[in-house]
Amino acid sequence: MHIHCEHCGKTKTFCTKHQLSYYSCKECGEKTELKDLKLAFINCECGSWLRYFTNETADLIELNCINCGMPVALKYNAKKKLYETIRS
Ligand SMILES: [Zn+2]
Ligand SMILES: [Zn+2]
Repeated sequence: MHIHCEHCGKTKTFCTKHQLSYYSCKECGEKTELKDLKLAFINCECGSWLRYFTNETADLIELNCINCGMPVALKYNAKKKLYETIRS
């Protein structure tokens, strides 16, 4: 999960096996409703394939690989309705 707090703007990347309906922000204590989450496919240079859910709405986002910590640039694919890794 990669969640953008709608109250303070902080982002958090974490793993969860449960489908959450709310994200409680550790920074400001407010809750962000998790709806219309989009899939983000990370194909990191370290060889990791990761699948995140995110509530980001920007066309371009950057997520950190959970294995090596490197930032990975993603672009929203409106046809597929998901974020894909930008290949250089
Ligand atoms: Zn917050
Ligand atoms: Zn990586």
